[in-house]
Amino acid sequence: MSRQLRYCPRCARELVFAPRAEGWMRQVCPDTACGFVHWDNPVPVVAALVEYEGYVVLARNKLWPPKMFGLITGFLEREDPDPASGVLREVEEELGLSGDIGGFIGHYPFERMNQLIVAYHVRAAGRIHLGEELAEYKCIDPRSLRPWDGATGRAVHDWLVARGITPPAPEARLHDLPHYAGIDAGLATAGQPSIEQFQLVAAAGFDTVINLAAADSPGALPDEATVTRSLGLHYRHLPVDFAAPRDADFDRFCELMREESGRRVLVHCAANKRASVFVYLWRRLLRGDADADAQAALERVWQPDGTWAQFIARQFERADRRSADVAGP
Ligand SMILES: [Zn+2]
Repeated sequence: MSRQLRYCPRCARELVFAPRAEGWMRQVCPDTACGFVHWDNPVPVVAALVEYEGYVVLARNKLWPPKMFGLITGFLEREDPDPASGVLREVEEELGLSGDIGGFIGHYPFERMNQLIVAYHVRAAGRIHLGEELAEYKCIDPRSLRPWDGATGRAVHDWLVARGITPPAPEARLHDLPHYAGIDAGLATAGQPSIEQFQLVAAAGFDTVINLAAADSPGALPDEATVTRSLGLHYRHLPVDFAAPRDADFDRFCELMREESGRRVLVHCAANKRASVFVYLWRRLLRGDADADAQAALERVWQPDGTWAQFIARQFERADRRSADVAGP
């Protein structure tokens, strides 16, 4: 999050954007005599991968959604003699543990927050007592630790690799998603992912999540929009009534797919029934994929019947009518 200023802190004029000689855009004071430049330098943040009684401690900040856990992090303070001291101070404040540095893991840019993450392995002992910023913590066996997308996740990955543990690639773990069906490199369908599985979706390089489930579908997350956006995913919600899918739903889905073209898209609903049918129809009618391929992908998930068989037939009829209209008499 780039911290934009509105007014010049020296002379109170409204700042403007201007290119610098380095080629960067920066906010500058329009008064050249004042000459203020808002450099917006990255802020150093220390992160601790805390090893405690053989486990790695992950914690959830009170501001995060349920089930989202990360490393212990905090701003480097002016009083910290060095980053290593700063990270030990954070571990003490947030977990109530005294620790020592097991090693420097690396530094990782966190572009979205304009931070530089300085990550350490910290060996800690004592009795865990959560500080005021944390809601809960969990202890994970390093062999079960799965790196997530983002700066601190890369630190976890690098620490595991240095210890000789090769975490499975996120792509290989997408099959953990309920009723997962990969279509191609840019498209997949699934049932309702959990919060941890959305982390996997982001780590596997997806850009967009299209959710066709209703807000009260079985297993629906109360805050899927927040969860996906916090992972940097583009979130589109198109609730489709499973008992009564409408032509307008499919039309809207095609619009969304057009808007998201060029991005890697996961389409999901509750059990991948709605998602697999919509993607099947979109492949046949919009993308022109071969029927055998599209049909096989659909049948791996289910064999639509009743309302859904009728829905599919109706979309083909509508497409036929549209092409007849275009062709004319
Ligand atoms: Zn100024």
